[in-house]
Amino acid sequence: MRGSHLRRLGLALVTLLIATGTLAGAALADDERYTPGSSGLGDPFFPLAGNGGYDVQSYDLDLDYTPATRALVGRAFVTAVATQDLDAFNLDLRKQDEEGHFYAVSRVAVGKDNGPTLKDMAFSHEGQELTVVPRPKLKTGETFVVLVEYAGTAHEVTDPDESIEGFVPTDDGAFVVSEPQGAPGWYPANDHPTDKALFDISITVPEGITALGNGVLLSSETENGKTTWEWSHGMPMAPYLATATNGVFSLTVTELAGGIPSYVAVDPRRTNTAVLAHIPAVMAFFTDTYGPYPFDATGAIVDFAPDVGYALETQTKANYSNTPGESTLAHEIAHEWFGNAVTLSSWPDIWLNEGFARLSEWLWLEHRGIRTAQQSFDLQYARPATSSFWQTPPAALPGPEVLFSSPPYDRGGMTLHALRGKIGDMAFFQLLRTWYVENRYGNVTTADFIETAEEVSGMQLDAFFDVWLFQPGKPTSW
Ligand SMILES: [Zn+2]
Repeated sequence: MRGSHLRRLGLALVTLLIATGTLAGAALADDERYTPGSSGLGDPFFPLAGNGGYDVQSYDLDLDYTPATRALVGRAFVTAVATQDLDAFNLDLRKQDEEGHFYAVSRVAVGKDNGPTLKDMAFSHEGQELTVVPRPKLKTGETFVVLVEYAGTAHEVTDPDESIEGFVPTDDGAFVVSEPQGAPGWYPANDHPTDKALFDISITVPEGITALGNGVLLSSETENGKTTWEWSHGMPMAPYLATATNGVFSLTVTELAGGIPSYVAVDPRRTNTAVLAHIPAVMAFFTDTYGPYPFDATGAIVDFAPDVGYALETQTKANYSNTPGESTLAHEIAHEWFGNAVTLSSWPDIWLNEGFARLSEWLWLEHRGIRTAQQSFDLQYARPATSSFWQTPPAALPGPEVLFSSPPYDRGGMTLHALRGKIGDMAFFQLLRTWYVENRYGNVTTADFIETAEEVSGMQLDAFFDVWLFQPGKPTSW
């Protein structure tokens, strides 16, 4: 294919030279340099997640959801910069399947802004890959806007570990959580944690339903029996952390220290929610311990979503499928620092999110005088050496089915607590603050953490991290 393509171009070149005698050589190079962006970014666990060839700057999502029918109508403006010369590129969005779940795309347009320059473009849609063919082609460095109009029936995404995520319908709305691969279940995304972007999310729902997005609430307006809730989050966010949870909620807005608004939404069926009164103190504690709060809002969404059965640290306001305990509340808020501001680069490094959140629970319980972090460590360490728990090293997970299993959480937290003992309190808390400040709004790897730990402590820690992160078996000396 490539050979005959080149020969045809050669003929065209000769013709052009005869006809014009001008810059035909440049025309050849021009045509050759445009290629399709890759359909995935090669994550070891989710190879088709994300796409190559561009860097998203912002998502502007307009969603209309009807809980009674689960009908979701979406219009997304995605603003991106081309990182290669593109003759095609992909977005991740689940195509409507034989059972009518997910979405049919009715229109794709590309332009320089979201107004008059938008022109309809050819596209194709297969599985979760929406392929757009922009004309004119896109040059490296060019900023462009893609409009995607789609509609269908909301349905959950099932993960390799059998848990559910995405836009999960509930009896009065939807519980919207997308780690690690739920985003294409409700909006067209470059669904990879390394492509952070700004988000404006507007959700139109029947009057009486409250809809919650990331960041701050700009407005809620009711017209003809429908209410539109407009949320804006002007700080970098990985696609898996977006939310649009909706249902019957009582929403309370307060202002915390530093003028940070706190949005607390509670399903009225959740009555025992006194734990939420800890939010300001948890925020203050982690601000003292790790550094300034990274985002423009905080809060909590406490829903009635028994089919989901877990909480997720959706950025600026975590989603809880049930009333959380105090540890879980601290865990999800700590993720704003570690997970949301400082984010893993690939899914096998999940311990960088979860080990830090687990350690944060232990530090919170220590701060509250409930039990020391050492006691929390000891409770985990008491597992017998024969337990299968010890067979999965947290930084060497075998596959996506163990992403949310105990080792990246508990042995991840233990790794950090053991490191505290190894390098001492002064160096350890300096390390956590350095790790946060240097990587805030970016992405990190396990190798980055080891390097920073060695720099801050001045110690050689290869053997320590090998025992705790990479080798199966119960660590006995480190
Ligand atoms: Zn977590």
